[in-house]
Amino acid sequence: MGNVAFIGLGNMGSGMCANLAKAGHRVKAYDLNPQAIEQAVSSGATGATTIADCVANAEYVITMLPAGKHVHRVYFDPDGITSHALKTAVLIDCSTIAVSEARDIASQAETLGYTTVDAPVSGGVAAANAGTLTFMVGGSDAAFTQSQDLLSNMGKNIFHAGVSGNGQAAKTANNMLLGISMIATSEAFNLAEKLGLSAEKFFEISSKASGQCWSMTSYCPAPGPVPTSPANNDYTAGFAVAMMLKDLKLAQDAGQSVSASTPLGEHATNIYQHLDDAGLTSKDFSVVMQQIKGEI
Ligand code: NAD
Repeated sequence: MGNVAFIGLGNMGSGMCANLAKAGHRVKAYDLNPQAIEQAVSSGATGATTIADCVANAEYVITMLPAGKHVHRVYFDPDGITSHALKTAVLIDCSTIAVSEARDIASQAETLGYTTVDAPVSGGVAAANAGTLTFMVGGSDAAFTQSQDLLSNMGKNIFHAGVSGNGQAAKTANNMLLGISMIATSEAFNLAEKLGLSAEKFFEISSKASGQCWSMTSYCPAPGPVPTSPANNDYTAGFAVAMMLKDLKLAQDAGQSVSASTPLGEHATNIYQHLDDAGLTSKDFSVVMQQIKGEI
């Protein structure tokens, strides 16, 4: 079992940190929010007062932060990770950030002598707590091999996506597909209902036909067919509109950077922007069903 530094103990990081402690690692935890540190301590980690304190002696340094600018700051500020961590430490960033940012950060940290991977996750808060996340990892073969066992204490599926940034590339393409498919599923349920089919009847048929997709069978945006989906709980997140909008904007930027045509990704971005502007920022992203129905 290793010495692990964990920085960023929010909705996702708190559960991930707890699972590492539960697996027997010696985890030192740091966040700007002292209450988050207290919670990590109650789940088996040791609290740190600074990043320097957190990363001292760490074999692995995990970050789970809101966006690229936070990761950059935490890595490279004078009081940041690369000023204090052992050069032998493996730096694992699990935050969702731009592909270009991930590649810049990896290249800067590797120039300083560190081994790095980008390892964004799919699965949300429930999977973070349950230790069933999917990790999409970018980095060298050696860096992936060094990180794999640790990541498997927090996740069920650990994929090596390729070189640095490829984890974020997989994540951004996947979440663009999810954003689009949730809108498409909402449109289909609304159309079927207006043509006279109940949500249950359309689900019964389409979930066994060619329209079947995760947005339908695991997370149906129409209330009724999937009891656990947020649609049956007033669209309580789940995965918030703000998070989907962030991910779709990252996908748009990534697409532009490589001249990839993403017309539906662009349209989906505008639709979730509308939900955000309408004050539904914290609702689950499947609330787009209500917009399609004309209720928003
Ligand atoms: P969050 O806002 O709940 O947590 C982020 C934490 O980072 C906060 O506790 C904050 O205090 C801390 N932080 C910010 N700046 C810091 C700094 N300089 N030093 C130390 N701590 C700092 O966010 P979250 O929902 O846990 O998401 C984290 C990342 O995971 C994001 O990149 C998000 O896009 C991604 N993600 C989230 C979900 C989800 O369902 N919430 C799913 C998949 C991926």
